[in-house]
Amino acid sequence: MTLLDSDTGLAPLEFAVTKNLAAKSPAQRDEILANPGFGTNFTDHMVDICWSSRGGWHRPRVQPYGPISLDPAAAVLHYGQEIFEGIKAYRHQDGSIHTFRPDQNGRRLQRSARRLALPELPVEYFIQSLRELVAVDGAWVPSGQDQSLYLRPFMFAREAFLGVRPAQKVAYYVIASPAGAYFHGGVNPVTIWLSEDYARAGKGGTGAAKTGGNYAASLLPQSEAYEHGCDQVVFLDGDGNVEELGGMNVIFVMKDGTLVTPESPSILEGITRDSILQLARDRGHTVHGRSVSLAEWREGVASGDIVEVFACGTAAVVTPIGTLKGKDFIDEQPTGELALSLREELTDIQYGRREDKHGWLLKLDS
Ligand SMILES: *Cc1c(COP(=O)(O)O)cnc(C)c1O
Repeated sequence: MTLLDSDTGLAPLEFAVTKNLAAKSPAQRDEILANPGFGTNFTDHMVDICWSSRGGWHRPRVQPYGPISLDPAAAVLHYGQEIFEGIKAYRHQDGSIHTFRPDQNGRRLQRSARRLALPELPVEYFIQSLRELVAVDGAWVPSGQDQSLYLRPFMFAREAFLGVRPAQKVAYYVIASPAGAYFHGGVNPVTIWLSEDYARAGKGGTGAAKTGGNYAASLLPQSEAYEHGCDQVVFLDGDGNVEELGGMNVIFVMKDGTLVTPESPSILEGITRDSILQLARDRGHTVHGRSVSLAEWREGVASGDIVEVFACGTAAVVTPIGTLKGKDFIDEQPTGELALSLREELTDIQYGRREDKHGWLLKLDS
């Protein structure tokens, strides 16, 4: 894969590598990889790059995974100046390790940085940071069915300063967590709670940025969803248009085979969504990004104009939506074959079981 327009010819960073002397033994690691869960176990190392307004990006390191020491006045703890990414490393049949469209995640991290007044990490450094971590922790990429190593790059304001302005000292890290199959015993449709009292984003807000604050804002409505027996929340904008779930985009399949996804400047642009829509286009489906009102959704399901609804994102890939619940209604959703068939095609590409026609994979190990 080439980096094309993001390739600015930057020289690679020289990472100082400090090995973790207390790294897990192969036996301990195998035990974790046998049943990794999601987001609870971490590999032996992490990547850390510093940034300052004076020195730019500097001190790139791979070091033992462990606590970060922060001044109590660090701006991130007070004003939430933070962004992150989520991307997976997949083990192929021949043992090699690949990731999926990392240039897209690198560019999105730059867009998030711009919105949160953080420095833009060059895409080359972003990709190199993934490589450096996999170079030391590659054995943590599991090889079981639907397993992967979830990589979590993140950046935050580290400067100790309580005044309100963009921080002049910033930290970038990458940590990694082995991830098991998101669904046990097959992909089951989820029940979605319609958040009528709370929004995750507003016009001109940070909805399109991958920033912790959006997730903080989604936690109370998410609790409300659990109280109503639902798995996830779907958010609307101020005009009654469908936006997305807390961490996944939404796609509607229409009776004529057209795929429609809500589009607005306050929706996060998912790379899974973009890939799924491309695979659908390759199959001859028409694809539209436009606003979709709640009324259109409910009436479309009632009339049969909408034949499938699903959510998509890196963690769970594709999840059919089985039920939409609001304060005074429960709408059963139609289910079909397309969501699962697109899911299979995408995961086949990611795990190297099918030809990568779009050049989406990047081999991470050397
Ligand atoms: C990360 C994220 C998604 C999904 O993006 P992918 O690139 O597909 O993982 C969707 N919505 C929100 C709010 C997100 O943070």
